[in-house]
Order: sequence, then C-alpha cells, then structure tokens
Amino acid sequence: MSKSKNVSDFIKGVKIVFDRIEEHEQVLFCNDADTGLKAIIAIHNTTLGPALGGCRMRPYETVDDAIEDVLRLSKGMTYKCAAADVDFGGGKAVIIGDPLQDRTPELFRAFGQFVESLNGRFYTGTDMGTTPDNFVHSLRESSCIVGVPEEYGGSGDSSIPTAKGVLYGIQATNKTVFGSEEFGGRTYAIQGLGKVGFKVAEMLLENGGDLVVSDINRHAIDRLIQRAIELNRGVKVVSGDEIYEAEADVFVPCALGGVINDQTIHKLKVRAVVGSANNQLLTTDHGDQLNERGILYAPDYIVNSGGLIQVSDELYSPNPMRVLQKTKAIYDTLFTIFEQAEAHSISTIKAANLFCEQRIESRKRRNSFFAHKKPGKWTVRS
Ligand code: NAD
Repeated sequence: MSKSKNVSDFIKGVKIVFDRIEEHEQVLFCNDADTGLKAIIAIHNTTLGPALGGCRMRPYETVDDAIEDVLRLSKGMTYKCAAADVDFGGGKAVIIGDPLQDRTPELFRAFGQFVESLNGRFYTGTDMGTTPDNFVHSLRESSCIVGVPEEYGGSGDSSIPTAKGVLYGIQATNKTVFGSEEFGGRTYAIQGLGKVGFKVAEMLLENGGDLVVSDINRHAIDRLIQRAIELNRGVKVVSGDEIYEAEADVFVPCALGGVINDQTIHKLKVRAVVGSANNQLLTTDHGDQLNERGILYAPDYIVNSGGLIQVSDELYSPNPMRVLQKTKAIYDTLFTIFEQAEAHSISTIKAANLFCEQRIESRKRRNSFFAHKKPGKWTVRS
C-alpha cells in the first residue's frame, strides 16, 4: 500500500472518530495494564460547571458498545444537571469489566488516578455495576469522587431523594391530569420494586393509593406484600408484560430503560407516566406518540434527579435540608415543562430538552461575558 493511501485512510479514520464525538468536549481512554483497568470517561458539556456523572461497570461485548453507552449517558447528564439547576455539566465513565470478578481495590485506585488527571473537570461515583465502597479506593487518589459511604463524607443512600423526587413528580402530574395532587383515590402501576420503586410504592400505599405491581424478583414482591399487610392494605401483583396493560391511572416505571416503545405504547391504559427509570422512552418519537394518545409524560431526567441533587450537594458538605429543598423544586419544574409543551404544542420531552438547552445557552453568554475580563497570558508579557 502506498504511503499517501495510508495517510488518507488515517485522516478518514480520525474524521470518523471526531464525527462521532462531535457533541462532546473530551473523551479519555484509560488503560492500566497492571490492574487490567479499561475505562472510558466522556465529558459532554461543562458550560454549567465541571462534568458530573456516575461510573458504570459492564462486561461490554465490544469497545464500540462501551463508547456508545458512555457518549449517550454523558449527554443525558448535561440535560439532567441543567434541569436540576445544579452547577455541573454532563459526564460519565464506563469501566469495561465484569462486576462479579473485576472490582478489585487496585483497579478502582487506578481509576481514581485517571479521574484526578482531569484536574477537577470530572466528578464521579457509583452507577450500575459499582458500589459506593468501590469508590472509597478511588477517593485515596482523587478528591473528585462523590456518593461514597457516610463515614467517608458521603451523603448516604441516594435512592431516598430519588424516590422523594418521583413522589413530587406524581403530585405535579396528578394535579395537571386529574386536577388534584392527592395520591389517594388513584391506581398506580409500578414496574420494579427495588431501591426506588419500593419506597415509592410504600409512600403511595401509606397515602391511600392503590397499586398494581410487577418485579422479576419474588423477594421484592414479598417484601411489599408484607408492608401492605402491616398497613392493612392490599396490592395486585402482575407478571412481566402485564404491567403495561394494567387498569391504572398512572404508570410508574422504576426498573428498566426503553420501556415505552412500539411494543408497549398501544397497551397503556393510563393517563400519565411518571417514574424513576432512566431513558424510559426508547426514542423521542415515543414521547410524541404518548402526547398524541393523551398520556402525559413526566420527563424521566427531571423526575429522577433527586439522587443527582444529593451527590452534587455533597461537594458543599452534605446538607439534607438543602437537598430536600432542591428536590421539591422538581414539582415546579414539571409544571413549567407541562405549560411550555402545551403552549408550543410539542411533547413534554421536547419541551424539557428545549428548557435545558436554553438554560445552558444563557449560562454560556454569562461565562463568556466574564471570560473576556481577564487578559490572555500572551498579552501580559512585557
Ligand atoms: P434497583 O436495581 O434497586 O431496582 C430495580 C428493580 O427492578 C429490581 O427489584 C429488579 O428486580 C426489578 N426489575 C428488573 N427488571 C424488571 C422487569 N423486566 N420487570 C419488573 N421489574 C424488573 O434499582 P433502583 O436504584 O431502584 O433504580 C431503578 C431505576 O431508577 C433504574 O432505571 C435506575 O437507573 C433509575 N434511577 C435510580 C436512581 C437511584 O438513586 N437509585 C437515580 C436515578 C435513576
């Protein structure tokens, strides 16, 4: 092969890489042969502040899958931070590995060194496949670690504010759809009774809501049934896909992403969807379809931002009152989004995306206004 062909193939290859990360500021590939660490950190946008986002560990089948995941998730964090009005931007990390075998202290220390190398541009902590304990090791190498156990200065179980946020989301949605924010007198179809779903289910039961629930884990269901007995209440349990066609007023997805899709959307009998699961809509088009069917969708990244609010607050030294106050704001933000969607005849997910993009744009103007006040390094040289 000629030298010029090699060069042109190289340039094409570089262009493909840059086209793919066009929306992102920085993508860092982290390789540590000693510990076997293979990680990717993606920083999507730091207009609002340093990037913040969890670190996920998965045995990705290909590096391509890992790149796709980290790019998509880090962009999502930009919107989530903007919606929650915290001074952070969007970032995320993925470690390619098996959480059951590869989570060694050394690997997380090495990961901490890479995070530290970004010099405060990226803050991270636990996500799927990792636990707060793993990041205690990273914390020995970097001060940019959040969500660690309380004895290390962390703020504790983030599913508590997340569940509270979902409940504020349900109140705002109930008020918009049914005219009253009361939980009682309505039926909620809850998919997933894990850390968040159980707490939401418990609160709804305590406040007079009727429940139809599903979980693939029998223990999770038994635990809720036990709690319902203590409260003198009952719950209806359905299996698998039956949750989508439940006779209910509100669908509360608290398990998987992508659950609003071509296969499920026509089955829904509810008037609203409000839950904690990330990326509930398979595509933005599914948000339009919910809108056309008269089902009010409370955008997931607004509803489930309680956990993010808590970890971002940690950096100012944890304060539960402040976290609660910001989590309550989810209620008002949703009203703003519902009103904007109505006013512009667009879906609520499109209205939420626009709302976040406008917040980022206005911050950009403020940033550049002050950036110009400092002389550049070259100009001050005598
Ligand atoms: P979790 O793992 O504790 O609970 C998930 C539950 O869903 C489990 O009980 C699991 O058995 C069940 N489940 C899995 N597949 C299912 C299926 N097909 N049908 C029914 N149930 C199924 O997770 P979590 O922390 O409660 O989080 C729930 C969702 O909320 C996830 O999508 C997560 O990404 C999102 N979320 C969580 C937080 C948080 O603070 N924990 C914050 C933001 C978003």
